[in-house]
Amino acid sequence: METHVQENGGTNGHQENDVSPAAGANTAATLSRLREAFASGRTRTFEWRRQQLEGLGRLLADHEKAILDALHADVGKPSLEAYIAEVGYTAREVASALKNLSRWMKPERVAMPLVSQPGVSRIHREPLGVVLIIGPWNYPFQLVGGPLIGALTAGNCVLVKPSEVAPAVSALLARLLPRYLDPECVAVLEGGVAETTEILTHPFDHIFYTGNGAVGRVVMTAAAQHLTPVTLELGGKSPCIVDRDVDLDVAAKRIAWGKFFNAGQTCVAPDYVLVHEAQHDALLARLTSTLRTFYGDDPQASPDFGRIVNARHLRRLNALIPDSGAVVVGGQSDESTRYFAPTVLRDVPADSPVMADEIFGPILPVLKVKSIEEAVRFINARPKPLALYLYSTNDDSQRRVLEGTSSGGLVINHCWLHLGVPGLPFGGVGASGMGAYHGKHSFETFSHRKAVMKKPTSIDPPIMYPPYTESKETWIRRLL
Ligand code: NAD
Repeated sequence: METHVQENGGTNGHQENDVSPAAGANTAATLSRLREAFASGRTRTFEWRRQQLEGLGRLLADHEKAILDALHADVGKPSLEAYIAEVGYTAREVASALKNLSRWMKPERVAMPLVSQPGVSRIHREPLGVVLIIGPWNYPFQLVGGPLIGALTAGNCVLVKPSEVAPAVSALLARLLPRYLDPECVAVLEGGVAETTEILTHPFDHIFYTGNGAVGRVVMTAAAQHLTPVTLELGGKSPCIVDRDVDLDVAAKRIAWGKFFNAGQTCVAPDYVLVHEAQHDALLARLTSTLRTFYGDDPQASPDFGRIVNARHLRRLNALIPDSGAVVVGGQSDESTRYFAPTVLRDVPADSPVMADEIFGPILPVLKVKSIEEAVRFINARPKPLALYLYSTNDDSQRRVLEGTSSGGLVINHCWLHLGVPGLPFGGVGASGMGAYHGKHSFETFSHRKAVMKKPTSIDPPIMYPPYTESKETWIRRLL
C-alpha cells in the first residue's frame, strides 16, 4: 500500500505518516464488533432501520448549530450555504427515507415465464453486511450523512471514515454518530492517509468512496484484493455551455451561484464555460455585474462568500492563473484568511494550466465556441464529466447536447439543482465515477437484490426431466 500513499501525496496535502500497530488493532476490533452485530440479524428489521433514521433526524435537530459552526471552522461556509447543502439536504433525505422505508423494503414480485410455472418469483433487497464510507472535506457532513442514510436504510452496519482535511466536522461526527445511532452497528474511525490505507486492507461488503479520482484508484485497487464492490463518487471538470439562444441574465446569475457557492469547492460546480461567440462579451459583462450584486465591491468582506480549505489549495489555485488567459474580474488572494477572490478568466487557451484538471476553487474560465457542435466536440474529447450544464432556450440545441454527450447528470438552464431531486440518481460515468445514490437509489446501492423463487411441490410436470422426447421438446419450445 506504500505506493498508494505516495500517489495522493502531491494532490491534497495529506500528511503521510505510519499508522501505529494500535490503530490497526483498533480497526480489527471495531470491524469484529460490527460483524458480530450484523450477524445478530437486528439490522434487518424495519424497526431498527426506522430507529436509526429517527436518530439521525434527532442529531440534526439537536446539533444544527454545532454542525454549522464546524463547517464554518473547516471550510468557512456561510451558514445559509451550509444549511442548504449539508444540514437541510441531509434532513430531507432522512425524511424521504422514513416516508418510503416500508415500501422500499417490500419484496418485488416479478412475472414468471410459463415454463417455470407454477410458482412465485420475487426480488428481496437484503443488506450487504459491513460497509465502509469514506468521506471528503468539501461537503464533509452531507457526504458522510447521505451515504450513511442509504447504508442504514438498507440494514447494514457501517464504518465511517470522515475526511481529516475537515477536522472539526470529523471530530463532531466521531462524537455524535455513536450517541444517536446504534453504537454496536455504526462506528467512526478518524484519520488521514495512513489510517485509511490501513482500514482499506480489511475486507468489507461494500466501499462507498467520495473524493478525487487518484484516490479512487487507490480505493478500487485495495477493494479488488477482497473482491469488494465499490461506489466511487469522483469529480472532474464539469462543463457549462452557453448557447446563442439564451436568457443571459438568468444564465449569468445561475452560473455564478453554482460556481461560487462554497467558493467553487463543489464536485458539480461548473468548472468552465463554453459560450457561443455571439454571447461572449455580454456574458462576461453580466458575470461581472452579478458578482458585484452577490458579494459587493469587496467580496473579501462579504459574509456570503466561503474560504479555501487550506493554504496548500490556495497556492494550487494561485498557480493556475498565469498563462491561463486574462483576468476579467478577481484574481486576488490572501493566504492569512484563506481568501481567493471570485475570478473570471477570458481568452483561455484550451491547453492552459486552468484547463488541465478540475479547478475546485472560485476560478471560472470562459472559452469561446462557434456553435453547439463545437462545444459538444470539445466535451467529447475529454473525460466524461460528473455534470454538464446547458443554458439554452433552443430545443434543437438541448436535444443535440442531451443525445450527443455523456455525463453523470445534465441540467438544462441551471446548475446542480438535480442533486436535490431524490428521484434522480446522483453519480458519475467513466472517469467521474461509478454507481449512484440519493433517495431510493441509496437504498439500492447498499442492498443486494436477491432473486428468490418459490415453487409448490404438489405439481411437478415432467416436461424438463429426461428422457427427453420429441413431444417434450415441442412443448418446451412453445413455453420457454
Ligand atoms: P479528501 O482529500 O478529503 O479525500 C477523500 C478521502 O480519501 C478522505 O477521507 C481521505 O482521508 C481519503 N484519502 C486521501 N488520500 C488517500 C490515500 N492515498 N489512500 C486512502 N485514502 C485516502 O477529498 P478530495 O479527494 O480532495 O475531495 C475533492 C475531490 O472529490 C474532487 O475531485 C471532487 O470533485 C470530488 N468530489 C466528488 C463528489 C461526488 O459526489 N461525486 C463530492 C465531493 C467531492
